[in-house]
Amino acid sequence: MKSKKTNIAHPLTGRILHIPRMSTEAALTMAASFRSIGVNARVSPPSDDNTLVLGALHTTGEECLPQRVVMGNFFKIIRSPGFKASEHAFLMPTSSGPCRFGQYMNLFKKALKDEGFEDALVFSPTSSDGYEGIAGNQIRFLRTGWRAIIIADILRKLRLMYRPYEKDSGSTDELHQLALEKVCSILSDGRPGLRHQLRQLVDALNEIVDSYELLPLNSSLGSRPLIGVVGEIYLRFNSFSNQDVLRRIEQHGGEAWIADIGEWVWYTNFEERRKLKEAKKQFSLEMVRVKIRHYLQHRDETALLKPFKSIFASRPEACIDEILNLSRPYLPAEQALGEMTINTGKVIAFQQAGCAGVVDISPFACMNGIVTEVIYPHVSRDLRGFPIKIFYFDGVPAQLDRDLEIFMEQAQGYGKKMTKSKIQMTNSK
Ligand code: SF4
Repeated sequence: MKSKKTNIAHPLTGRILHIPRMSTEAALTMAASFRSIGVNARVSPPSDDNTLVLGALHTTGEECLPQRVVMGNFFKIIRSPGFKASEHAFLMPTSSGPCRFGQYMNLFKKALKDEGFEDALVFSPTSSDGYEGIAGNQIRFLRTGWRAIIIADILRKLRLMYRPYEKDSGSTDELHQLALEKVCSILSDGRPGLRHQLRQLVDALNEIVDSYELLPLNSSLGSRPLIGVVGEIYLRFNSFSNQDVLRRIEQHGGEAWIADIGEWVWYTNFEERRKLKEAKKQFSLEMVRVKIRHYLQHRDETALLKPFKSIFASRPEACIDEILNLSRPYLPAEQALGEMTINTGKVIAFQQAGCAGVVDISPFACMNGIVTEVIYPHVSRDLRGFPIKIFYFDGVPAQLDRDLEIFMEQAQGYGKKMTKSKIQMTNSK
């Protein structure tokens, strides 16, 4: 693979790029997108107890759980037989704002050096430029990668909508796996043009809708209390780190609706625009570039969501501007950055969309969770006692089930209260 600008070989040439398994869906579709531009990309292995042991070897205990899990899984690869550092690269996206992840790339580089593996490459695109550095300026990758994120979000949402109602245990997960394989084979093919790729993806998604509609169910979709799930982006998608809390919500009688990954991308776009305006560059070439990217991303998202118009009608997603506006009375986006602001707005958006409660998944000692813990009681009070429960994780198994049982009772009570007041309002009209 060659860089367009300099004609110098791209640093990923000849290496295997390992993608962290934040959300399995997104890791698989992103790896497929990298393969479409000739990068030999693989998803890092699933986490297990050894992940935490290896992660702890190069950390002091001050680092957050996402860092320990990502590094531990990378070290599982590094310590596998026959590993040759010069043939491998590790994707470690970084970010600015109140997040320590931006520092973790340096920590990982140091750990590689300490173990004598400094020839391995740490590949780190950043959120401050909308992750454009992810593969030079390769438009193809940026478009395919964005489609990969949207599709991962769609397939995850579909699985969560159907799984609690399936008649045959495991049938939704099986369908989900087949759907992922289908879309990944399209995403990884670098030959068709971008327009043709989009058509192929939409056709595949239509087939996936058909197969879901044939799935035998026990009861009708949407008949359980809907539980919104927000929180730190790595932990809320990584089932190992969050002790499979989504499945536990289902076991306790709920249906989980999780905030998307795409939401973070929309947020980084918002931040880019905000910073350009702040620097008085609203009429600059940079702003035009950001707006064109926004337009194309929006167009792709609309096309990919079209097959799900009726299925997702009862699960409308608030756009990032709406989310940040909802958050504004508590945490204005111009003054409070990152996930704490998005999560606060999203909790309200979930309530407005009919959720009976929200679960927030936070790593122990992360600033985002600490701030929202103070904010949520105010949000809950303003929404007439809306149940919001933060679950903290630090890699040590926590007793979730008892707390979830109590939370689900509160959520059911809130759902009934809201239904009753809606009926009263309708009757009084
Ligand atoms: S948001 Fe918090 S938990 Fe997540 S990577 Fe940043 S510092 Fe760690």
